[in-house]
Amino acid sequence: MIAANFDYESPRTLSEALELLSSREDAKILAGGHSLLPAMKLRLATPALLVDISRISGLNYIREVGDRVSIGAMTTHAEVVSSDVLQRSSPLLPQAASQIGDTQVRNCGTIGGSLAQAHPAADYPAVVLALDAEIVAVGRGGERPIKALDFFTGMFSTALRADEIITEVRVPNTEGQRVAYKKHHHPASGFAVVGVAVRLKASAERIDTVAVGITGVSHNAYRAVAVEDSLRGRPLGAIAAAAARVANDVDVLGDYYASAEYRKHLAAVLTRRALEQAAGVRK
Ligand SMILES: Cc1cc2nc3c(=O)[nH]c(=O)nc-3n(C[C@H](O)[C@H](O)[C@H](O)COP(=O)(O)OP(=O)(O)OC[C@H]3O[C@@H](n4cnc5c(N)ncnc54)[C@H](O)[C@@H]3O)c2cc1C
Repeated sequence: MIAANFDYESPRTLSEALELLSSREDAKILAGGHSLLPAMKLRLATPALLVDISRISGLNYIREVGDRVSIGAMTTHAEVVSSDVLQRSSPLLPQAASQIGDTQVRNCGTIGGSLAQAHPAADYPAVVLALDAEIVAVGRGGERPIKALDFFTGMFSTALRADEIITEVRVPNTEGQRVAYKKHHHPASGFAVVGVAVRLKASAERIDTVAVGITGVSHNAYRAVAVEDSLRGRPLGAIAAAAARVANDVDVLGDYYASAEYRKHLAAVLTRRALEQAAGVRK
């Protein structure tokens, strides 16, 4: 399929990009193009103006700032995977990024693009939720940090305003905590049929901190609050029963590959495995 006609601009500064984005109602940011261009070819998206932000310098970096790591929106999935800073300070993100698509997708797709797209089966949303990350949006009025918990509002829908650009993602340093990402890949697309991101701090006797982010299961990624509540302050032996609650409070999606019942079962199994891996009782 061939995309409908569109205009194209390649600004060199963020303020120029913001100006262009506000100049037309049907303008859209182009980052890695690995979600937007396929959607345009299928005519699921028909923007009249593409604002390509790949030539704006200063949107691609990974750096430690105090007790967190800041990641520029144009940082590719491959750069997240190979980042020494993230491997050391916040390894959940590279663990998940290494499981996104294939090499081409990881070389072109960006963290900002993936979060803005909010695909219901994308990997990063589960991770930023489990990390209590912050997504920084910039509009002509200035910077607006949005908590990951408030960011995903529905299928392909976020708290981002039409005239805002994601510039940065901030994740905490998780040294001293254990993390794990478990994913069942869709055999055709590679997206998550179910993806589970876990962050945990536990001793042999009790679980102190636990955060569980889920993708693929419902219309948007979510925190499995029922699982977390059943584990906080409890021994590791509580994991199996708690994991079974992972999809109790959400509308579970079903499709040709995975019925809602199967997806719910898979979510419980992967949640248990991710928690056990993070707790050090499973490889
Ligand atoms: C074959 C294939 C397999 C894939 N497999 C997976 C997978 O397993 N897991 C997974 O998570 N993803 C997967 N993806 C999606 C991939 O990760 C995309 O790259 C990503 O979702 C979008 O990032 P992008 O940089 O390509 O964004 P683009 O396609 O350029 O943009 C996507 C959307 O976000 C908006 N946007 C982009 N950047 C910004 C910004 N900084 N601020 C505001 N809005 C912005 C655009 O306007 C557009 O609406 C796959 C894609 C393909 C083609």
